[in-house]
Amino acid sequence: MDRVLQDRRRLGHLEIGATELAIRDAMHRVGRGLLEQLLNADHGGHCGQRVACRNGHQAEFIDYRTKHVQTILGAAQVRRAYYHCMECEEGERGVIPKDQELDMVGTSFSPGMRRLMARVGAQEPFDAARQDLAELAGVVVPTKAVERISEAVGTATEAADQAARAGILAGQGLPVAGAARLYVALDGTGVPAVPRETEGRTGKAADGKAKTREAKLGCVFTQTGCDEEGWPIRDPESTTYVGAIETAEEFGSRLYTEAVRRGLKRATTVLVLGDGAPWIWNLAEALFPGAVHIVDLYHAREHLAAVGRLAFGSGSETGKAWVAARRDELDDGDVEVVIAAIRTLPSNDPKVQDELRKEAEYFETNKLRMCYKHFRARGFFVGSGVIEAGCKTVIGQRLKQSGMRWTVAGANAVIALRCRLLGTRWEELWRSAA
Ligand SMILES: [Zn+2]
Repeated sequence: MDRVLQDRRRLGHLEIGATELAIRDAMHRVGRGLLEQLLNADHGGHCGQRVACRNGHQAEFIDYRTKHVQTILGAAQVRRAYYHCMECEEGERGVIPKDQELDMVGTSFSPGMRRLMARVGAQEPFDAARQDLAELAGVVVPTKAVERISEAVGTATEAADQAARAGILAGQGLPVAGAARLYVALDGTGVPAVPRETEGRTGKAADGKAKTREAKLGCVFTQTGCDEEGWPIRDPESTTYVGAIETAEEFGSRLYTEAVRRGLKRATTVLVLGDGAPWIWNLAEALFPGAVHIVDLYHAREHLAAVGRLAFGSGSETGKAWVAARRDELDDGDVEVVIAAIRTLPSNDPKVQDELRKEAEYFETNKLRMCYKHFRARGFFVGSGVIEAGCKTVIGQRLKQSGMRWTVAGANAVIALRCRLLGTRWEELWRSAA
């Protein structure tokens, strides 16, 4: 192709790109004017000489005050009637009905702006989020504001979820049609924390001190059928997540409520999937006693591989053959045979003996959760891949990037946002806010 023509085309792209951005800015200016008119179309929210304050006193109208509000279309000025309550504590005496009406109490960011900030803040590090806001939406805000607003929206989301729990447990707003199979999967993953959040906790680091806090994540999904080969298929868009850095007990109530919200009471079969961690099965026994409990097949296989390494050394052919045979037995549901085989492995090293005993116990404790042949015949999922992927996407990709150190409150706010975002419940969050 003609070189000059090529150059001209490239130039054309550049000019059009700049023009597009200029037009967007111009449209924002026009839009901001319209929005400002709309925001000021009332009488500043004036509702008589007196209004009730939040404590039920009578607050007196003083004057009109203007607030600069950062909106998606730029800074807008909003005129609001200001009332003063003499009976309230100092610092809490101002009453502005219009701020309440516009959902802008104590903030100068509009609801639309907060939605954008929370979304990008949930997706990426706050400074990258600020840059994307400028590039994609043409709005310029400080990094700290993205952080503050993201955390505030996440905290509010968590508070709203908590408030909704009693209603859910009482049967409000539950799905009418029951799913055939409802799965509950749970797992834990470490989130790097600031030193004051890990004080006095022991961890895996060389100095024995904890550097992370465990976030617990749960997901609920449904399965209606299997493919032609009999492998289970997860219902599209059926996965929702809940999670936080909290005790197993607190997490249990969170997870149970989510399962109820998703139709626990109406499901034909309920299944719980997890690795072998004791807290997982303690919760499962307490919360879902009638469910089918399944230990992730791949974790069970990893334990077999570990036994092979312990007893035969890594890379040993005899070891590999031993592991392969046990794997077949495990697939066939012969857990007792596997346990017996581990128990008869010879070793002169007391440390190895101890490790082998622990491995045998792992299979013994979980044997009813390892009936893989039976599970497969019924077309159940036997792997906890969904929740492990969830730990990576919901938690890892945003909270475990290099150099990050979180407070528990900050991490939990972002986790709350990401559970909504990745569990297809983002839109619902803003509908309920409205
Ligand atoms: Zn008052």
